[in-house]
Amino acid sequence: MQLPRDVVVGPDVIYDLKDVCNDLKLKEGAFIVTGHHTKKIAGDVVHDILNECGYNPVIASSKEASMTEVNKIVELANEANSRYLIGVGSGKSIDVAKLAATQLDLPFISVPTAASHDGIVSSRASIHDKGKKASIEVNAPMAVVADTSIIAKAPYRLLAAGCGDIISNYTAVLDWELAHRLRNEPFSEYAATLSRMTAQILMDCPEDIKPELESSVRIVVKALVSSGVAMSIAGSSRPASGSEHMFSHALDMVAPNSALHGEQCGVGTIMMMYLHGGDWKKIKECLEIIGAPTTASELGIKDSYILEALLVAHKIRPERYTILGAGLTPEAAEKVARLTKVIS
Ligand SMILES: [Zn+2]
Repeated sequence: MQLPRDVVVGPDVIYDLKDVCNDLKLKEGAFIVTGHHTKKIAGDVVHDILNECGYNPVIASSKEASMTEVNKIVELANEANSRYLIGVGSGKSIDVAKLAATQLDLPFISVPTAASHDGIVSSRASIHDKGKKASIEVNAPMAVVADTSIIAKAPYRLLAAGCGDIISNYTAVLDWELAHRLRNEPFSEYAATLSRMTAQILMDCPEDIKPELESSVRIVVKALVSSGVAMSIAGSSRPASGSEHMFSHALDMVAPNSALHGEQCGVGTIMMMYLHGGDWKKIKECLEIIGAPTTASELGIKDSYILEALLVAHKIRPERYTILGAGLTPEAAEKVARLTKVIS
């Protein structure tokens, strides 16, 4: 089980980063990976904090989460004789830094500036390679420093998307249970319970998630951290990624302009919950209260792409058995999308 050692969540905790580094015995040789926009928001602050401690940090911006960027960071960190990496950003910089740190066999600290998916804490990195998006197994972060005052200033759409990624735990666990019963797949009761409970806490109080509210950010960040912990306990992404995630990955492939990962997973959860025979209306209602998309038009995606994605979703990870089984028929796909009002 690989778990983060230090998880610090709260307002202005970015200034606690030096204590976290001291605790982990990581001092000189910091390499900060940040984004163009997030550099001004938090990257420069992290640099100044470590510089004042005399840790001689190096800072680099990464453009996108691609293999080219990962190779660039590996090279730069090697040249600088870096001893640990810090990813500061909304997701892309964290993914790049996480994979680069794994390749360099160096510790990694995650400093998210948004809470739009569980990648801020998980042991997977989503990276584009040769035109395809791949989810790569990496080392989990050694520490997570989530400053809720910074995250509260990020666009609300990102936080609502994070809620979609959390709610997807419901169908992910149902798929896992199904695979356990039908395929004798290893199953962890602890991981499944933690994952389900994480989604439940959010489902119990969707009205508490509001824009620019530090307390809302805290609820979402804590939930994303516990989803990450559930995955660490399971030793796979099973507790937080099932058929709804396969639907989202399928949309990324078929739709020319896909929406945010968490937004697509939220819509996927509504439809997969219908297929499971569960309370999909409650999922939809909860996402609506939060202000996350529940329809194709709210995702900004044509109805036809939703149907196309539903038909190919089961092929995304054939080894991962889910409610999609060997695939839906076109009639079944249309029925689930229409009945749940995802398409009109
Ligand atoms: Zn996800």
